[in-house]
Amino acid sequence: MVRYLMPTTDRGGSERSDETLRRMFGYDSFRPHQREIVEAILARRDVFAAMPTGGGKSLCYQLPSVLLEGLTVVVSPLIALMQDQVDGALANGLEAAFLNSSLDPVAAREVWHRVARGTVRLLYVSPERVAMDSFRERLRDQGVSLFAIDEAHCISEWGHEFRPDYRTLSVLRAEFPSTPIAAFTATATPLVQDDVIRLLQLRSPLAVRGDFDRREIYYRVRRKERVNDQILAFVRSHSEQPGIVYRATRRSTEETVAKLVSNGISAVAYHAGLSDRERRANQARFVKDEVRIVVATIAFGMGIDKSNVRWIIHGDLPRSIEAYYQETGRAGRDGDPAEALLFYGPQDIMTIRYHIDRMESEQESERATRNLQEMIRYADSGVCRRVQLLAHFAQHHPGRCRGCDVCEGEVAMSDQTIPAQMAMSAMIRTGERFGAHHLVDIVTGEASDRVRRLGHDRLPTFGVGQDHDRRWWLRLVQDLEGAGLVRRRDGAKSGLMISPAGKAVLTGTERFHTADRPEKPAPRVKATESALDPEQEQLLGRLRALRTRLARERGVPPYVVFSDKTLRIMASVRPHDRATLLEVPGIGEHKAEVYGTHFLEEIGSTGA
Ligand code: ADP
Ligand code: ZN
Repeated sequence: MVRYLMPTTDRGGSERSDETLRRMFGYDSFRPHQREIVEAILARRDVFAAMPTGGGKSLCYQLPSVLLEGLTVVVSPLIALMQDQVDGALANGLEAAFLNSSLDPVAAREVWHRVARGTVRLLYVSPERVAMDSFRERLRDQGVSLFAIDEAHCISEWGHEFRPDYRTLSVLRAEFPSTPIAAFTATATPLVQDDVIRLLQLRSPLAVRGDFDRREIYYRVRRKERVNDQILAFVRSHSEQPGIVYRATRRSTEETVAKLVSNGISAVAYHAGLSDRERRANQARFVKDEVRIVVATIAFGMGIDKSNVRWIIHGDLPRSIEAYYQETGRAGRDGDPAEALLFYGPQDIMTIRYHIDRMESEQESERATRNLQEMIRYADSGVCRRVQLLAHFAQHHPGRCRGCDVCEGEVAMSDQTIPAQMAMSAMIRTGERFGAHHLVDIVTGEASDRVRRLGHDRLPTFGVGQDHDRRWWLRLVQDLEGAGLVRRRDGAKSGLMISPAGKAVLTGTERFHTADRPEKPAPRVKATESALDPEQEQLLGRLRALRTRLARERGVPPYVVFSDKTLRIMASVRPHDRATLLEVPGIGEHKAEVYGTHFLEEIGSTGA
């Protein structure tokens, strides 16, 4: 039986909650939204609350657990942290306990006894428990006066932390028709909010959205060059400040740790390759300030309560804005100034696309693609970072935030409408069927075999863009894609076509701006017409011999393999990998594919 002890008038409820706030929690006043939520719960209304991390969500169900007769059940996915949550509650004099798979049967039985006696009023449980029929049956016998669902976004596939075991929470409404359900999350877009409300079957809930703006965090994006050096430089210029570096893979995590440690900086790794014990130990050392930096894959940080994290670095492009904002939100929880720095380069986009291409479900890959596009736009556009981040949570910000690199003028922007038009016109004139490399051949006037064969060297756009180098143009095409002005045809690897937004730029009704980026310092290929030194001449001889051999094997004339000019340039710049090979004029992707390794091997060998 569940009874509500308090007088049901608003005033009565208010007074009781004010009094409990002071007496049990030691606070003079509620934080924004806490009162509304507490009172809705006391009036037995469902609640959906999206409040930023540190907003004070736990109080919203802990306080009612004191005032409601009977049991409050808190569902939380953070098994590792349940003990801490319970300790925190006990420290405030709440009668709390937890039940999850880490508890042995004897201890679990003891918890049930205390629940039955009424000496446990706040029970933390894992979603796996709730999924067990026997467990819910027991709760039904017991009677539950409130379900609080922590990290409620985990129930939605639209969220960035979907957990299948959260799905069983959908049965709670039917099995406990008269028990209010309050769902809490720090990270919910309107889409996720709708999903949570629908899946938990909340009945006209009080829906609350907190203020997601983290004014204390300065947002900055930088081009990624040699990221471990860049991270080291940042860390050195922020002496003694604790921070978190997020990396995309185990390996890069380890590399960053090695770089920091070998430079005398205290840092530990946190990733799925470590044992539970190692992970817990590393986390604990960080929380206790015994180690300054954690370098982690995304698994790190959920539920961590360390208020003095001063900066967050992302060494790789995150997969979604939602995940990014959640991770950067771990800085500055004490309200003092903090920094979020994101490094990003074209390689990141390729890596994420590679994973997307291998996703099984079409729905999943569409979602991931959209997230990626949004992330690229964030990193690459010249719009106030805060405006973009908050827009993601449906919160309007007027801009000029004074807390991001764009607003503070750190990012030089320039109008690239004309180059954008050149690239798009090359697309149009070639039937929107070609990829970036071919299009760049055309605008830079590179008469590759393919260009000549297709007659693309006779197009009016051929060679119009010679005042920028190849790399510059490749990035421009990427920016056009990032900005949604061009897109890939039917998810194919190449074959770019122009979107309606792109047409607007092409016709000049809209302009196109991108963040400035340095041109490659002296393009090495320019120096090639000059004479070769004796060593280079010798290499050229070997390259010629190789060309002859390959041409003979394939039954084609040697110039079809590579032109003399290409060989000379190769001999002088000595490309050492596929990327540098592609910078040599006359080497397109196809040739790099077919002949690349042979030539790279020849260049790499000593010639002896
Ligand atoms: P969340 O779960 O939303 O991230 P917490 O519940 O952990 O946030 O609360 C963050 C911090 O704010 C905690 O240290 C908590 O004790 C404190 N806090 C919560 N409510 C209040 C309040 N009304 N006044 C002052 N501090 C509060
Ligand atoms: Zn700004």
